[in-house]
Amino acid sequence: MDFSIPDEYAELQRNITGFIDRELRPLDDELDPEQDDVPVELRDRVRKRSAELGFYAADFPEDLGGSGLPQLGMVLLREAAARSGRRLAGFTTYGPEGPTGLLLNATDEQKKKYLVPLISADKSMCFALTEPEAGSDAQSIRTTATRDGDSWVLNGTKHFITNGKHADFALVFAANDRAKKAQGGITAFLVEKGTPGFSVGRAQRGMVEGEGQFELVFEDCRVSEEQILGGAGNVGMGFYSAMQFLAMGRLSIAAMCNGIADYALSLGIQYAKDRTAFDRPIGKNQYVQGHIVDSAVELKASKLMTYERVEVRPRRRRDPGVIDGQAVRIRDGQPGRRPHDPGPRRHGLDARAAARAHLPAGEDLHPRRGDLGDPKVHHRQDPGPLESGSLATPASRADPAAPAPSGPR
Ligand SMILES: Cc1cc2nc3c(=O)[nH]c(=O)nc-3n(C[C@H](O)[C@H](O)[C@H](O)COP(=O)(O)OP(=O)(O)OC[C@H]3O[C@@H](n4cnc5c(N)ncnc54)[C@H](O)[C@@H]3O)c2cc1C
Repeated sequence: MDFSIPDEYAELQRNITGFIDRELRPLDDELDPEQDDVPVELRDRVRKRSAELGFYAADFPEDLGGSGLPQLGMVLLREAAARSGRRLAGFTTYGPEGPTGLLLNATDEQKKKYLVPLISADKSMCFALTEPEAGSDAQSIRTTATRDGDSWVLNGTKHFITNGKHADFALVFAANDRAKKAQGGITAFLVEKGTPGFSVGRAQRGMVEGEGQFELVFEDCRVSEEQILGGAGNVGMGFYSAMQFLAMGRLSIAAMCNGIADYALSLGIQYAKDRTAFDRPIGKNQYVQGHIVDSAVELKASKLMTYERVEVRPRRRRDPGVIDGQAVRIRDGQPGRRPHDPGPRRHGLDARAAARAHLPAGEDLHPRRGDLGDPKVHHRQDPGPLESGSLATPASRADPAAPAPSGPR
């Protein structure tokens, strides 16, 4: 078994790191550290620019505007973006606001209308499953979908919906037959912003940095049969779609957590080198070294488990995808926390802040940063880099001084 990262993916990782370093770092530095939310205009500019370079939604088919990047490439791309430690890096690869593989099961017309503009980052969406009375037990949703001639009428409330306020459309799960639950009782609808009877309720703030979550309210919201995901033949198939969505998301979250953990670990190592106590760097102490090694081992195990999930499992005849995806999510959700956890606790200060303070202005800690050289992989014509000044419009961009790194084509 070959455990090395294929050359083309290593290059892709360098390219996205270069993009983040050159174009996003100045914007990232302008963000208010006291303010969790990234302005949605800036988020969308980053998405758009990343799509122009071919990173965003790179794993979607080429005929829909993606690059057909295999899943391992996408996982490594997400990991590299997160490893930059930059808040805006999270928007260079798509999240719940972006395209979902579920839309590959849509009708051709739906793909054209909804999926293509998500891949190009011209639109954003939200996934609306959770309700106040149905979270983990998602098949017990109470939002109803009642057939009325050729249309359906939706009634109910969703909550904790990421990007709920800004989405151009929502993928809404509603019960066409509450008694049947998962077994044919739930249908997925594509509901556009502005549809009468569909409104955004109150904002809900969680502990996660970035977008808040929102309530979505449906009051006699009438949608046509063409709004059923996959067409009228898919009535009752929604629960399966919802579970697929969650399984796909787990892998992305695992990749992101691995990248964040990598970043945190690099900060911890740097801090252990820089911080002195009793006339020597604290990293000379075996106890401190032990914590760093524990973190490195945890991280290595998480990465291997994630890669194995992508590469080995799908080749097996019976792919327990959902269970494995869940296991990876549970396992990898933790190292994202663990390596930086010992920093503040064992190094006596906020390791990140302290480590940053040791750097010359404008420099970062990431050991893999550096000049990119000429990327071999090119694709679309580069329309020019993002400018500093968070709300500068694309039209005001300066000519690029250097060739921008590009995505997989
Ligand atoms: C940041 C964030 C973003 C989100 N974005 C979205 C979104 O975009 N779209 C969307 O639809 N939803 C979204 N959600 C909602 C999320 O999917 C739900 O929070 C999740 O399904 C859990 O539901 P709940 O919060 O109602 O918890 P509950 O289901 O009430 O569970 C409470 C606790 O009980 C535990 N528990 C429940 N059942 C069992 C069991 N059988 N065995 C053992 N333990 C159990 C749970 O693990 C949990 O710890 C988001 C949530 C968060 C925090």
